[in-house]
Amino acid sequence: MVSKKSYEEKWGPHSHCVICGNAIPEGEKYCSDICKKKYEEELKKASRQQKISYIFIVAMGALLVAMFLLPYLFGQ
Ligand SMILES: [Zn+2]
Repeated sequence: MVSKKSYEEKWGPHSHCVICGNAIPEGEKYCSDICKKKYEEELKKASRQQKISYIFIVAMGALLVAMFLLPYLFGQ
C-alpha cells in the first residue's frame, strides 16, 4: 500500500518538474531533456512577450508625457 506519507518518506525532500510535475531530486527543475526544452521555449516566449509589453508601456508613457506637454507648448 502506498500512502502519501510513505511516498514522502521514500523520496525525502524533493522538487517537482516545472513542466509535468513529476517528482525529481531536490534542486532539479525538470525530469528530462524534453521538459527542459519545453521550459526553455516557454522562457523565450515569455521574454519576447515581456519585451513587447515593455515597448508598449514606454510608448504609452511617451504619449502621456506628450499630452501633458502639448498644452504648455501650444497653450500660451
Ligand atoms: Zn517533466
